[in-house]
Parts: sequence; structure tokens; C-alpha cells
Amino acid sequence: MNLLLFSLFREKKRRRVVELTEKMVVDGGSRDGGEWDGRWNHINTFLERPGPFTHPDFEPSTESLQFLLDTCKILVIGAGGLGCELLKDLALSGFRHIHVVDMDTIDVSNLNRQFLFRLKDVGRPKADIAADFINGRIPGCNVFCLPHTEFHIIVCGLDSIIARRWMNGMLLSLLVYEDGVLDPSSIIPLIDGGTEGFKGNARVIFPGMTACIDCTLELYPPQINFPMCTIASMPRLPEHCVEYVRMLLWPKEKPFGDGVGLDADDPEHIQWVYQKSQERAAEFSITGVTYRLTQGENTHSAILNSACATEVFKIASSAYIPLNNYMVFNDVDGLYTYTFEAERKENCSSCSQVPQDLHFSPSAKLQEVLDYLTENASLQMKSPAITATLEGKNKTLYLQTVASIEQRTRPNLSKSLKELGLLDGQELAVADVTTPQTLLFKLSFTS
Ligand SMILES: [Zn+2]
Repeated sequence: MNLLLFSLFREKKRRRVVELTEKMVVDGGSRDGGEWDGRWNHINTFLERPGPFTHPDFEPSTESLQFLLDTCKILVIGAGGLGCELLKDLALSGFRHIHVVDMDTIDVSNLNRQFLFRLKDVGRPKADIAADFINGRIPGCNVFCLPHTEFHIIVCGLDSIIARRWMNGMLLSLLVYEDGVLDPSSIIPLIDGGTEGFKGNARVIFPGMTACIDCTLELYPPQINFPMCTIASMPRLPEHCVEYVRMLLWPKEKPFGDGVGLDADDPEHIQWVYQKSQERAAEFSITGVTYRLTQGENTHSAILNSACATEVFKIASSAYIPLNNYMVFNDVDGLYTYTFEAERKENCSSCSQVPQDLHFSPSAKLQEVLDYLTENASLQMKSPAITATLEGKNKTLYLQTVASIEQRTRPNLSKSLKELGLLDGQELAVADVTTPQTLLFKLSFTS
């Protein structure tokens, strides 16, 4: 972990604490919101005494708690399964200025696990209801459902890779460089938790300093799909049996009526898939179909979210060294967890500040460039729009998100780079949903 950055963050925080305590002296230090004796004892245990695992520069004090309670602003992205856990953990850890964003509304199937919601809330916005619930339950806590402009720390509770890549790009775009040197005060730490099946991870990112989401994009391979022929006729694994029931049997047998899709949050649906999968497995002498496998859903998101909330606490209080920087959690078979330091990628398309070279022959078609941008493991773009400056004019070579422009630029895809008038060393600007920034690439002709 770069202790330099960490101490800068501490210094930044300490200045805020000093400002705050001065202000508090003026107004007598009174605060709104129910306080009672010993309310924060569990937190003070960490902040008011040294311990074998505290940060080497840690000085026990009562100021850290004041920073958490009164100053530190946290943005939580997502108020679904992960977000509900995060909000609860953070609010109980003493954070009282929490902003939450979620575009989704509450569905009845969310109620079993997104525990901040009740039946009466169905159809209403998740962020609003989650904020109201926490504020009602935890006195003095202020969860807002509208994003504030400046945050100390951002936590992602998202199941979408595109959304977390976008947030990663946003934080990178906020970095300030002076003569090529990063201004540490422009860094907003990003804590990211993710789960897939029985695997999960929690990571700490200091944008511009440590590995960003896109530096390690190869760790998120495109979703594995089993070949349909294997599923339909030659199953070998328990997963094949579950997939058979989900993909082929469900639409055929319509067990819960016409037009009722499989809902992973509905126990009756899962029970049906579980039974049918077992029958299928017995037919092919396959073992290992379990209810958990059928559920395909993480049972451990509470663990990962508490790990994320702990990292927020460590960074905000400066009392402990943050996770450096990637924790893997796996409970496929037993329980296994370890941490490692994900390294920055020198030529990361998002955080390296260096335009990446695209090596193509002048006779390569624009379609090949487009395929590269979407298929390359470290880029994995979704619908890239490519523009270039040709003869002093900005020209859109291909853009697919607007139908009329897509139609107009589609013929370019079958033209060669040379035919399009592109030169060796030409800069291509690429925009995509995976980042708010426009990425620059440099065309490098191969012979
Ligand atoms: Zn990066």
C-alpha cells in the first residue's frame, strides 16, 4: 500500500476535523439526532486506543469519531441486495452523511433479501425507501437519495460491470494532474464489492494511484455460456442439468403459467427448478445438483458488504491500513479467502494517461477495429462510437446508439482504414457506455 497517499488522506481528514472542532466550540458542540450514553462505544473501541493491527501512524483520539459522524460524506451506488447491506453496515458504523443512488423500483420478489423494503413499498423507488428506512431506524443518520457533488469515499454495491466501469471512469476524470503529477487531494477512494455465484470480491481503489477496475478487466471475463448442444443432449456437469431446466424446460412446461419468467428470488420457482434438475441429473447419473447451485445466488453478500463497510471505516478513520487491495472470497466448496495486490496496468485504457496504440494494416476494415474494441479482454466495450479528425474536421466514422447515424455510418464499416482517409499515427476518439470519458487511441499501421 502506498503509505504516502494514505498519510495525505489522513492529513486532509485531520484538517477537516480541526475546522469542525473549532466550529463545534462555537455552537457548544450540540448535535441533533438522538444521542445516548455509550452509543458509539463499539466504534470508540477501535478509535480511542492503540492495538496490534492499527496503522503505524495512528494516534488514538476522539476526533476520528467526530469526522465519521459529522463530516465524512459517503456515496453508495445501488440500493438493491448489496446496497441494503452496505447502508445498514455504514449507518451502524457511525457514518451519518450517506447518499444513495439507484434508478430501480422495488419489485415484490426483492422483499425476501432486500430487507429495507416492505410489501407497501412495492413499485416505489429503491433509493427513497432505503433512505427513509435507515433514517427512521437509526437516529441522527441522514441518508439522502439525491447525489451530492463532493464525496470523501464512494462504495459500489452493483451487479453491473458496465456501471462500475462507468463510475471508475468518472472518478478518474475528476483527477487533477499538475505538470504530470497527480494532486492527491483530487483522489476519491472507491470501494467495490461484487459477487457472482459462490465467488465474490472486495477491493479498494485509489484512482490514479492503485489498480483501477479497467486495469484488471481480464478478471471479469464475459459470462460463460454452456454450448446449447451440451445442455440439450450431452450433460456432464450438474450445472448443465440446471441450465437445461432453466433454459429449455421452463419455457416448454410453463410451470407457473403463460408468460411467467423464472424469478431467482422466488423460492417456489427455485424449488421447481431444483426438483427438475435432480430428475435430469439422475437420468444421466450426474451427482452434485444442490439447492444452492440451483439458486445460483450468493449466500455471502453480507460478508462482502461488511468487508466493504470495514474498508470505508478504515480509510475514513485512518486508524487501520486499508486492504491492499483485492480480497477474493470463494465458498463453492468449503470456504476459502485470500488477498492480493492487483497491479496497475501500464497501458490501462482508463487510468494510464497514455493513448493506446491500435495496430492495424491500412487495408484492415473499420469493422475489424470495432470488433477489436468489443472483443479485446482488456477493453470489452459495448457499443463504441469512433470519431477522427480528418482534414481539420471532426468526423464520425461509426456510431450505433442513434439509429439514423448508425444507418448513415454503417457503410464505413466495410471500408478500409486507408479508404476512410486515416493516416498512420492518427488519433481515434472512442466513446462507450463503459466510461464517461472519451478514450484516445493512436492508429499504428502495420505493413
Ligand atoms: Zn487502470
